[in-house]
Amino acid sequence: MAIYRQLSSMHYTGRIHEPLRTLSSMNRTREDRACLWIPIERLWRAKSISYRQVATRDFAAQLFHVFFVVPVVLYMYDRLFAYSGFSKEIAKFPMLARIAVYFLISDFGYYWAHRLMHTRPFWRTHQWHHSPTYMYWLAGCRATVPHQFLVMGSYVLAAPILNPSGWWVYTMLVIFSYLDVDWMHLNVPWGGRVLEWFFVTPRFHHIHHSSDPKHYNANMGNVFTFWDRLFGTFIDPATINEKEMAFGINESVSPVRLIAGL
Ligand SMILES: [Zn+2]
Ligand SMILES: [Zn+2]
Repeated sequence: MAIYRQLSSMHYTGRIHEPLRTLSSMNRTREDRACLWIPIERLWRAKSISYRQVATRDFAAQLFHVFFVVPVVLYMYDRLFAYSGFSKEIAKFPMLARIAVYFLISDFGYYWAHRLMHTRPFWRTHQWHHSPTYMYWLAGCRATVPHQFLVMGSYVLAAPILNPSGWWVYTMLVIFSYLDVDWMHLNVPWGGRVLEWFFVTPRFHHIHHSSDPKHYNANMGNVFTFWDRLFGTFIDPATINEKEMAFGINESVSPVRLIAGL
């Protein structure tokens, strides 16, 4: 499987762009992810969808992400930040504690970057992500350069918490980040109140993509749901009938503007 070939060649050198490059190489593992998710979506699907109609466009969107968006954002962050090595004080803490803090800080930053993109001045950067009228594992791959730049900021800023760390830490985080995006958009009705006290589920994020104005700006979280509860953007998925929900942006925007995010 391609995923293992790619993972075996990865290692972390301590520079910002290395984990981000790893991210880019993971993006090329869509065949492996398809093998994982398509059987699950066929067995438990929330809404009917024709993969044949949407897959070509979504694979093209992902290629654009891998070969244009990620390299451009990597370049920008490489130019903007130059941190050297790591703090010896931080390195004294156990790896698992540092990973937990990294998740909390980066996810908190993601939540606010996401909220920013849902404000009027920044909405154009993000509406491409919201443009699909369907949900399935590859529906979340649309991210413009400004979108990618904004959401990646907190991950880059929090990265020194993980230094030094073995190659497996970044490999695990990159695998997680891809499976997490797939998971949020997965065409299954999965969720549950106990799980959703802490974690984003497919049905939780589907509400975020709803074209019903009542659901606009709700459920912004990426990994954790408690930011939405704390800051007043939570809609309880248990109160929504997904079968009656439609997705999309309710406005017509030229494809060039959508993809440019401007
Ligand atoms: Zn959004
Ligand atoms: Zn999404």
